[in-house]
Amino acid sequence: MNNFEELSPIANASLTEGSDETFTGLYYGGIDTPTTRHLANRIARIEKGRFTVLAPSGQSAIHLLLTTTTKPGDHLLVCDTITYTTRWLLDQHFQALGVDVEYFEPQDAPVLSSRLRPNTKVVFWESPGAFTFELVDGKAVVRACEDHPAITVMDNTWAASTFHHPLEVGVDVALISITKTHAATGGVSLGAIVTNDRDLFERTKSIAALLGSHVGADACASALQSMSTLAARLSCQMATTSLAIGVFIGMTGVKRVFHPTLPNGNSDLFVRDYVGFNSLVSVEFAWPLDETIQLLDRLKVIKIGYGWGGTISLVNHFDPCGWPSAKRVGLSGSCARFYFGLEDVHDIERDLRGAFGS
Ligand SMILES: *Cc1c(COP(=O)(O)O)cnc(C)c1O
Repeated sequence: MNNFEELSPIANASLTEGSDETFTGLYYGGIDTPTTRHLANRIARIEKGRFTVLAPSGQSAIHLLLTTTTKPGDHLLVCDTITYTTRWLLDQHFQALGVDVEYFEPQDAPVLSSRLRPNTKVVFWESPGAFTFELVDGKAVVRACEDHPAITVMDNTWAASTFHHPLEVGVDVALISITKTHAATGGVSLGAIVTNDRDLFERTKSIAALLGSHVGADACASALQSMSTLAARLSCQMATTSLAIGVFIGMTGVKRVFHPTLPNGNSDLFVRDYVGFNSLVSVEFAWPLDETIQLLDRLKVIKIGYGWGGTISLVNHFDPCGWPSAKRVGLSGSCARFYFGLEDVHDIERDLRGAFGS
């Protein structure tokens, strides 16, 4: 700026003002820069919403939203299919603060209105759910909450702002971990809260500023670059995933394959709500866990690791015993989750056949 008249005043309103315009009302680099705002607007556009608040990670986006919308004594309704890190945040942090977190099962969605209380502030779900990909009928949740002030929040990370757009079916907030499909190829950590509700956006943006929950311009620039290849990556990964599912289904030693496109899930909801799929596939093996681990160790192209979203295919075994979702679908403890990246599809097929011997 060249003169003091251009400088926005230090006031709470200036923390949020003008954020749907890349260059107007800029105030302080921690809160927004043209680059961070550019990413926020891009995320809003592909998520089909109006406003985005960025956060340093998906986890911090969930924390920021719940910190903005709930206080001790309030009640949250959460679907039990959420990923375990979200459950840790709810159980170890929010419950400890005195927020009453109540879990519901995916099939409760149509009758959820009976679970709403006067102090219910947020109804939160993730769909398809972690590891077993159980689907939650988001339209039914929205209908159940129609006459109640609680906000509806969907963790839409799985759909990569591409395969499903919850705001279009009336969900109040789409929450995403940009760390996964959007920007893992850039190696950055970011999250986003996307909404059409200006008041909720402004409250969340102000709390983010007060807490110093800032995002760096370099991370946002990297995310923008990664997102320029999002559609190309996803279509390549869909082809690999279809092939890998076919390989698994024909393999001896494979008990069940889990992917939302397969009929062991609630595939009619999937067909209704989704136009594509990501490359996470869970497999239940017939062998005991230690044998499964030995076979997984033989994979060469597919590496061992926790995360997902980048170029490299990853696998990890998981023990679902004790998870509500695993109990519902009757999973045993000999399971692995595969993430298919961008390697040559024939290399991946050879790797799977080589490791599992068929
Ligand atoms: C990874 C993940 C998160 C947490 O995101 P981070 O950016 O890793 O903090 C939240 N929800 C889902 C569905 C995820 O896969």
